Amino acid sequence: MAGGNTSLTPQSGCLYVVATPIGNMSDLSERAKSILQNADLIACEDTRSTGSLLARLGFRKTLVSYHEHNEKEAAASIVEKLQTGESAALVSDAGTPGISDPGFRLVRECRRQGIPVSPIPGPSAAISLLSVSGLPTNAFLFVGFLPPKKAARQRFLEENRNFKYSIILYESCHRIEKLLGDILNTLGSNRQICVGRELTKKFETILTGPASQVVEKLNSSSKKGEFVVVVAPEGYEL
Ligand code: SAM
Repeated sequence: MAGGNTSLTPQSGCLYVVATPIGNMSDLSERAKSILQNADLIACEDTRSTGSLLARLGFRKTLVSYHEHNEKEAAASIVEKLQTGESAALVSDAGTPGISDPGFRLVRECRRQGIPVSPIPGPSAAISLLSVSGLPTNAFLFVGFLPPKKAARQRFLEENRNFKYSIILYESCHRIEKLLGDILNTLGSNRQICVGRELTKKFETILTGPASQVVEKLNSSSKKGEFVVVVAPEGYEL
């Protein structure tokens, strides 16, 4: 597909996976704006949040709902539209679609059907924090959310105690204390970690150091908002 991955305007029959801001509207790229404005349809996780993103950009579009509960059927119907030559943009509520967000099934179906899929890259909370953590970036394991059950979370940490690369975890404000407690108990107070809260937003907080110190500092600040945690390999010293 000539020009499919460089053009500012969408090509017929192509799916664009478009990253959107994780908190700071200025992080939306020019190309993302243009693809969103000019695609025939936008598949989105939540029509209200994408509707308000588009309203801030000053335009409206046909929105197709694509979320974790209708992924299979919605993917089939979006693929049909792509096969008739329509162009489509896929967005999630924030960050990069498919990264702890819906997207994988639609992309896989497009690949199976020979439909071109092109990235419009941009923010992702995991890479954003890793890049500023001071913890090893040469290789890493992105896990997303650990299971909510304590035993399963601890089992994961125990099994990966000696993993030789950095590990990136997502967590909500409701469970961040529990996750950090499990890291302390399972990996020890000296394990180097980095916690990023509300990245790219007004109350952005980034703390790196031994787990015990990071937890202590975090305990004296607000635990509202969204969190990413990077865990360094055992023995790593900042
Ligand atoms: N697709 C997104 C991405 O590319 O980063 C991730 C979506 S996932 C449903 C949402 C989680 O990402 C949050 O619970 C939090 O762990 C993390 N996250 C998203 N935005 C964040 C931010 N601004 N600061 C810190 N963590 C964030």
